[in-house]
Amino acid sequence: MKRVIIIGGGFAGMETSLRLKRLEKKAEILLIHNDDCFTFVPGLYETAAGEQDESNVCILASQLLHQKDILHYRDTVLSIDPKKKRVHTKNIKTIHYDVLIIAIGAQTNYYAVPGAQQYLLDLKTRGDAQQIYEYVSWAISSKKKHQFSICGAGLTGVEFASSLQEHIFSECRQRKKNPKNFSVSLIDAAPSILASLPDKAIKAATAYLKKQGISLLTDKKIRRVTQSRIFCSKESLAYDLGVWCGGLRTHPLIIESSLEYSEKAGERGLPGGGMMVNEFLQSTTHPSIFGAGDCICPKNPALPYVKTAQNAIDQARYIAYNVHALLNGRKLKPYRQMKNKFYCSLGKEMGVFVSGKTVLSGKHIKKKKDKLESTYVDTIKAGKVTSDLYG
Ligand SMILES: Cc1cc2nc3c(=O)[nH]c(=O)nc-3n(C[C@H](O)[C@H](O)[C@H](O)COP(=O)(O)OP(=O)(O)OC[C@H]3O[C@@H](n4cnc5c(N)ncnc54)[C@H](O)[C@@H]3O)c2cc1C
Repeated sequence: MKRVIIIGGGFAGMETSLRLKRLEKKAEILLIHNDDCFTFVPGLYETAAGEQDESNVCILASQLLHQKDILHYRDTVLSIDPKKKRVHTKNIKTIHYDVLIIAIGAQTNYYAVPGAQQYLLDLKTRGDAQQIYEYVSWAISSKKKHQFSICGAGLTGVEFASSLQEHIFSECRQRKKNPKNFSVSLIDAAPSILASLPDKAIKAATAYLKKQGISLLTDKKIRRVTQSRIFCSKESLAYDLGVWCGGLRTHPLIIESSLEYSEKAGERGLPGGGMMVNEFLQSTTHPSIFGAGDCICPKNPALPYVKTAQNAIDQARYIAYNVHALLNGRKLKPYRQMKNKFYCSLGKEMGVFVSGKTVLSGKHIKKKKDKLESTYVDTIKAGKVTSDLYG
């Protein structure tokens, strides 16, 4: 029996395993994931800000997959040997594959800013969100003043800052505390927040954040971080909780394997580096290896692929089809990137929506985003697949 191994149980890995199982009845499908849960990453900023319970972003995946006759090993892949078609893991040691699907996401890019990785918290996993939440809860109950700094004013930084500010206001109201004891700053090297979005979206989000009292420190390139200060451009800012929402870079497992990859920096919603893939989402150096989600980079620069959950989910369709085709000697289907829709939450009630040149903002946007996301979570919980997160 042929064996297909999928590494990583995020959006790309979960969706691929479920889709492939529907198509491919003869091969064994094994998902190796370093967690028992599928994490709904777009909800993490709310968990970190204390606006959402962790159980809403964590779905127990192992049981769900076993019911579907998909093997799930909770393990970490330490290395890939594409020549011998083997992966080496922490617990099981060595496993052979006929086809390998790499869906391990990306690692955080600190752009070599001294001190950033050492002193700032990341916002990528449930553990990160929990750590931030614990600090925020402690800070709100303490009697001192606190300065929260968020480095990176892209989609993640803006969503987190607005949610955090709202949480502070609501906690202060309930506990009869002075909200002026807390400050939230957003720092970015770009001349505006959400620099990759159209002007209209930038204006709507900027007006909202300013009204909420969030300091927007744009055009400020972070040069160095110490335990208590962030040094940017010609000034420095004191902080006690710093969160890095800066960017992405190629996962170390890809860098350490003999796969072709690009080290180009990326960011959520923007193109970036990763394992080089061809039009079929196949490794450019090893045709029995496919890649999906944040961990890939198309070799063809005419296909700039943006790193979003929407694309990771969409690619799963192509990968499942192509792996099935490869195993059965059929023609592979070229990947066409879908038109992405960007929803940016502004606190609990407001939101901005961008799709091409269309920009909308208001309470209805946030409601729609919440509805689409909870529908997606329910679909995954039921072991079903979706073709578009924000369809
Ligand atoms: C705070 C935040 C908010 C976001 N909001 C949105 C949004 O609103 N809309 C949107 O479209 N996108 C959003 N994104 C981006 C989106 O979450 C990513 O694009 C998406 O998670 C990528 O999916 P993936 O499957 O490629 O990787 P991931 O979701 O990162 O999953 C990869 C998985 O592989 C596992 N793994 C890694 N290495 C190994 C290993 N060696 N062995 C075993 N397992 C391994 C990891 O633990 C991880 O669970 C957001 C991102 C963040 C951080």
